[in-house]
Amino acid sequence: MAIVYHYKLVEHEQWEGHPESPLRIRTIKKKLKNEGLWKDIVHPEMITDEDVLKVHTPRLLNRLKEGGGIPIDPDTMLKNDTYGHAMLSASVAVTAVRNALNGIPTFALTRPPGHHAGRDWMGGFCYLNNVAIAAEAAGVRTAIVDLDVHHCNGTEDVFYDRNDVLVIETHEDGLYPRTGQKEDIGEGAGTGYNVNIPIPAGSGNKTYEKAMDEIIIPVLREFAPELIIVSLGVDAHYCDQTSHMLLNTQGYIELCKRIIGESKGGRIAFILEGGYHLRATAEVVAGVLAALDGMTIQPEYNEDKGEQSNGLREIKKLREYIGERWKL
Ligand SMILES: [Zn+2]
Repeated sequence: MAIVYHYKLVEHEQWEGHPESPLRIRTIKKKLKNEGLWKDIVHPEMITDEDVLKVHTPRLLNRLKEGGGIPIDPDTMLKNDTYGHAMLSASVAVTAVRNALNGIPTFALTRPPGHHAGRDWMGGFCYLNNVAIAAEAAGVRTAIVDLDVHHCNGTEDVFYDRNDVLVIETHEDGLYPRTGQKEDIGEGAGTGYNVNIPIPAGSGNKTYEKAMDEIIIPVLREFAPELIIVSLGVDAHYCDQTSHMLLNTQGYIELCKRIIGESKGGRIAFILEGGYHLRATAEVVAGVLAALDGMTIQPEYNEDKGEQSNGLREIKKLREYIGERWKL
């Protein structure tokens, strides 16, 4: 395994006290060092505007370059240095995917995150869609699995009419950005290749495992990607204050292990999205890296909160719906 990292990733800051803070990367790094997992560090190779324009509009790129210290939405500032930070984050993702294509499973310590950035919009802490730019740069049949608790509206937008990139995701139903209906299955050639799995608030390990085993894994097998990219948000953890989900650390690690099990020849990259409880996020990242190395960690944030939703029933219904297009 390998980790793509750059010391300047901590220079990006919305404002003091913002949840998407430099402390996220700092805490992850500290945890990985403590666990003996801070090794095989890869320096990102910088991408160019040309790479960005394969995914985003010239309008978005120009706006990003202009900066100006203005809010894009109540939670996302566009500053004069944001362009540089967003380019670095996307470069980290692209480098991770190139590494993965060479058979080395790789974790990208990206920030700012990217999955809310669409072809022509920024927002939700995101400016450039790191995962989309990386998938485009890879240029192979790719499955993107998004486990962030928020719907990946940006990633969906980029690949909505494409059948060479599968987007399959889980999110908390009704949470920001309030998109991600099950009926949103893609369009044109991409019909069926966008798979949304909205999960009710209060769901925990069992609901997620059911979604993974009965929907995500069978769809991945049928799609048979050459490359798997995981948009790993850790904000469905019960410690996270931005959502109402009850996954614990081991639950997260098990989900990731199942996805790793579907990758071929080491061609899997994990790209960090959200996750705002610093230590729980760091612990999950450490657990995933340990799993890639055939090792385990002893999680601290691992209470069993059970299921406080009708999630299992919802997954059963979703399975029937998605099963109309995929062999589940
Ligand atoms: Zn999120």
